[in-house]
Amino acid sequence: MERPSVIHKTVRAGDVAPHWQDYEGERRRFSWDEARKALSGLPGGGINIGFEAVDRHLNTNVKDRVALRFVARNQPALDLSYAELARQTNRFANVLEGLGIQKGAHLFVLSGRLPELYIAVLGALKKGIVVTPMFSAFGPEPVTTRINLGDGQVLVTTDVLYQRKIKQLRQQMPSLRYVLLIAEEGGLTHEPGTLDLGQLMRQASDAFTTVNTGAEDPALLHFTSGTTGTPKGALHVHGAVVTHFCTGRYALDLHTQDRFWCTADPGWVTGTSYGIIAPLLQGVTSIIDREEYDAERWYSLLAEERISVWYTAPTALRMLMKSGKELAQKLKYPALRFIASVGEPLNPEAVWWGQEVLGLPIHDNWWQTETGGIMIANTPAFDIKPGSMGRPLPGVDAYIVEHLEAEGDALNVRVIEAPDVEGELALRGGWPSMFRGYLNNEARYKKCFVDDLYLTGDLARRDAEGYFWFVGRADDVIKSAGHLIGPFEVESVLMEHSAVAEAGVIGKPDPVVGEVVKAFVSLKDGCVANEMLRMDIMAHARKRLGAAVAPKEIAFLPTLPRTRSGKIMRRLLKARELGLPEGDTSTLEAGA
Ligand code: AMP
Repeated sequence: MERPSVIHKTVRAGDVAPHWQDYEGERRRFSWDEARKALSGLPGGGINIGFEAVDRHLNTNVKDRVALRFVARNQPALDLSYAELARQTNRFANVLEGLGIQKGAHLFVLSGRLPELYIAVLGALKKGIVVTPMFSAFGPEPVTTRINLGDGQVLVTTDVLYQRKIKQLRQQMPSLRYVLLIAEEGGLTHEPGTLDLGQLMRQASDAFTTVNTGAEDPALLHFTSGTTGTPKGALHVHGAVVTHFCTGRYALDLHTQDRFWCTADPGWVTGTSYGIIAPLLQGVTSIIDREEYDAERWYSLLAEERISVWYTAPTALRMLMKSGKELAQKLKYPALRFIASVGEPLNPEAVWWGQEVLGLPIHDNWWQTETGGIMIANTPAFDIKPGSMGRPLPGVDAYIVEHLEAEGDALNVRVIEAPDVEGELALRGGWPSMFRGYLNNEARYKKCFVDDLYLTGDLARRDAEGYFWFVGRADDVIKSAGHLIGPFEVESVLMEHSAVAEAGVIGKPDPVVGEVVKAFVSLKDGCVANEMLRMDIMAHARKRLGAAVAPKEIAFLPTLPRTRSGKIMRRLLKARELGLPEGDTSTLEAGA
């Protein structure tokens, strides 16, 4: 197969014309204030994500289009039109109203990709409630930590997940006033201290006037993992909807007639910004698969659901590539016209594979929880350089910076003008979906900035044509199957096992999922390292953290390398694991 270093932009005959073609011109003309005018806003000058995504369409013929189409194995698809979604989200907002939940309170959702999740998120936004969807594969530990950090007053979850993850720890979540349970196939068990969401919805009115939220009112709280300490709650505001709208056009090229599939779970920021909000803003039909990854099923969905725009992730693409091109080529995908990917580095091979097997290249793009929306992307407006994350979108200025000496804790950086030099990726603040803070952690938030430059924590380089190339993370955070995992959260749970004295966790490179979580533990005196103990520690971690976060590998060490100040040197664990040079070990504690 030919592997060109540039894939030229093309529009296939019969495809809808892309939203933009002129990169430089569009960037010059663009302003966020102008962009906001495409949305309707609220009477009185406010803006609300839920209203823009759903109710704004009620005066247009989009209202009768399918907004969300839920598909599942062995079940008929369930379609919700924009008009129906408006009614259902109104009902949910009224449920919250009836419970006395006030504007600004925090609501969490823990469920699979069920209609109730989408209705709860959008309904709560219309009510001015701050929403956090959580990944349903999280174990009780990450769930409790997040609800407590976020001061969650309301939790929407399923009966089954409540039994498995919440019930036992409910007493440890003092802020939680209401748990609203979604009935699954078996009905509800009517647990004490919970309410039946279905019943509340049936009793609630389907008329509701969106609460007048301003652009700076908080809307979404997304948790993200850092190297140390508990997860950080990145707070986003209603004004972010302008970024969701613009990037839906610039980076995903969404047009109203599209049938769009975002494979990310709403428990992660991509699944909220682009699995719920951005497609609705464009009036498209989103296909939501309730099942887990399955190569054959995914190809059938692309074909049978006539997906035209597909937003997925490198891990998924690598798994599809592994399953062989014959499987892909059993079917045809005439509707498919644009594919994008996010979350981890996308190998050039995957871009070429898309071109060869699906007839379309994959457009990699870059952003993170903190930025709230896509910042750098390969788009229809310019050629793709496989392996590059693309170029900054209109309204976004990206730089490579180097760190200079500074006094004490202060940071000092310099923008590197020359191309092809590695440094930290930084963005100049000003786009609407920029996070407004880490909840209750002003100091950590401040550390992300030098003046108005936001430091992303990623290392990258920019080439002479302005394309950005990802180099790696500047910290120890792990990216596994596109999900950010904080080593500290995993280490803390491992340390709770009665045999574990100390734990250090790293990301070990993996050809399919990017990195797998690997733990090194040393044992308490008298404990013997053997296979049974390893399995026991593994089971403990899986039970507490859930399969998505728990380590896949555990190794025993007599002691872990620490700095003289007592910090576990994860960098050294990683270097030793990979047989790489150990680098500067001057702060290493003697004997480690
Ligand atoms: P999250 O906040 O969980 O969305 O993770 C954001 C991080 O994922 C970024 O800071 C990067 O380290 C990584 N990431 C996201 N998109 C890309 C990409 N296209 N290429 C390489 N890394 C990416």
